[in-house]
Amino acid sequence: MQTNLRLDSRFPQMGTTIFTVMSSLAAECGAVNLSQGFPDFQAEPVLFDAVHRQMLAGRNQYPPMAGVPELRQAIVDKVATLYGPRFDAESEVTVTAGATQAIFTAVAAFVRPDDEVIVFEPVYDSYVPAIETVGGRAVFAQLRFPDYTPDWAQVASLITPKTRMIMINSPHNPTGSLLTRGDLDRLAELVRGTDIVILSDEVYEHILFDGEPHASLCGHPELAARSIVVSSFGKTYHITGWKIGYVVGPAVLMAEFRKVHQFNVFTVHTPSQLAIAEYMQDASRYLGLAAFYQEKRDFFRKLMAATPFELLPSHGTYFQLARYDRISDLPDRAFAEWLTREIGVAVIPVSAFYADGRDDRVVRFCFAKREETLRAAADRLRKAL
Ligand code: PMP
Ligand code: GLN
Repeated sequence: MQTNLRLDSRFPQMGTTIFTVMSSLAAECGAVNLSQGFPDFQAEPVLFDAVHRQMLAGRNQYPPMAGVPELRQAIVDKVATLYGPRFDAESEVTVTAGATQAIFTAVAAFVRPDDEVIVFEPVYDSYVPAIETVGGRAVFAQLRFPDYTPDWAQVASLITPKTRMIMINSPHNPTGSLLTRGDLDRLAELVRGTDIVILSDEVYEHILFDGEPHASLCGHPELAARSIVVSSFGKTYHITGWKIGYVVGPAVLMAEFRKVHQFNVFTVHTPSQLAIAEYMQDASRYLGLAAFYQEKRDFFRKLMAATPFELLPSHGTYFQLARYDRISDLPDRAFAEWLTREIGVAVIPVSAFYADGRDDRVVRFCFAKREETLRAAADRLRKAL
């Protein structure tokens, strides 16, 4: 269709998210898709039965704006059991349409034009666009290559009177690195006496390996008092397409969050909320996730040991980073495209998570896949490289 509008693009430089680009290319080329992060196996049928039952029972109209009480209560109970504090189900929990909406909404609620928001690179790809949409400015701290640990002295140097928010993410996508309790203490020192809000993206809170504990901000009283903590059922229950997550935080912050949430999505799919509330009653379903994915990580790493890729550690998430210097000297985007087209395995180039395109020649594999998928990918890599 033709238009005569001369559009002054809000985001002239912005392309399409790397996850969509690589998944489309994988489909076009018939490649094994280890790029975008999503499981290629099913959740348990009992979860689907619960949704269906709730639909048939007539639970098909708008739920309360903040989420159905059953789900908010289940979230409160889980957070209290795992991390300590008991949030108020009425005023301190909101169910969201996934973590992406939660993050966008939190940014819109707290960040004003010309405010600064500190993010850590490599940075999950939705953070900076959210900040820029509301007129804020992203300020980049670096996770130090190759172990991707934060440099708190650098963070201290980036804090100014304009700093409104600091966004953190642990376990970290794309690197699989973790923040420790010591990191949280350093962060607490840096923000003490300021009005900086922390947005903590903990969507992989149940996926940590080798017995590492998750340093949730919920479990750090000083930081929890200034934080919005985000999680996603998509990751936890193998249902990324359902787009349901939640935020918890002090009532004063949550009230601001909801001012935006109510006009952004208002609320989230009722039967799915009720089904997840039921499903959460069995804690082993999220407590078992770490062992489940550790087995996949170890299986994948063993297969990959027979290829020329050099694997970096993966301490959490369902991602594995790998260097490819022994295979190619292409930049990582070109390498990812070549690998997808010519070898038939799709991956994510890590430079996509840097504003300046920094390229350490590292790509990300997603191992949230059936064993046969991982084996098919590794076979292609082993035979061709
Ligand atoms: N944050 C991180 C770090 C993620 O990896 C993802 C999705 N993979 C999201 C947020 C978005 O989660 P959702 O699909 O629930 O919007
Ligand atoms: N977060 C997922 C990943 O890291 C993708 C989510 C998306 O496609 N927006 O791959």
